[in-house]
Amino acid sequence: MFFFFFAFVAFAFVVLLVLVSTVGFTLASLVTLFSAPSQFSALLRDRQLRRNHALEHATINVIEQRYGASRLAGLAENGGFNIQGGASPDLVASAAQEALDRLKAGERKLAIHPRCGTSLIAAQLVMAVVFIVAVILLRDLSWIAFAAGLLAAIVLGPRLSLIVQRFVTTDARVGNLQITSVEVKRPDGRMGIFSMMILGPVFVHTAMASETGAKRQARRDGRAEGDVTLITGDREEIPAGGYRVR
Ligand SMILES: [Zn+2]
Repeated sequence: MFFFFFAFVAFAFVVLLVLVSTVGFTLASLVTLFSAPSQFSALLRDRQLRRNHALEHATINVIEQRYGASRLAGLAENGGFNIQGGASPDLVASAAQEALDRLKAGERKLAIHPRCGTSLIAAQLVMAVVFIVAVILLRDLSWIAFAAGLLAAIVLGPRLSLIVQRFVTTDARVGNLQITSVEVKRPDGRMGIFSMMILGPVFVHTAMASETGAKRQARRDGRAEGDVTLITGDREEIPAGGYRVR
């Protein structure tokens, strides 16, 4: 008897949780439907950010092709991108260089990653549109509208994400993008004593280089063109083939 009561309570709790999260996700999706266009148009204008986003995806793809699925995450900025999740700076540097070479050789698929933040926005856009259409067709705010939105988001969201990544949030035509340095950032200070033991995010600095500008910069730095400086905190600079570890 007690067991059935317990099972019923657990079942009711799960149903309630699904209902609350579905309604919450639908409301958030309606907000996204109105905020996404301005975010997308800002991204379309910032080609450098889209190039760095493409190289960030390609770098994680190269690492995952070498070692299998990972839990690495990335974040692109105007001057480069972050790789978080414990990859060593040497691995990030070599994967980023391979990724850049392969993008330049025309391997545009590398710029797409299923775990991108674009996927959440794509799922929300599908959900919001299907939800609104369902409410209009049903002329009622019924659970069917919520369920239709959720189902569409799960089925169509990932497909739309690939299209939005390709045409809006990344740009695989990286031109003469260059990796200028790879830097290990300090771990989050909130981790306290544990921050001594974990590896901080690895930031890959990039810049567009005109052929002459790159040569001039290399001469000024006293290094051969194509060298990448690896900055790993306070340690001394170690020459490492094409790389210099600092
Ligand atoms: Zn992404």
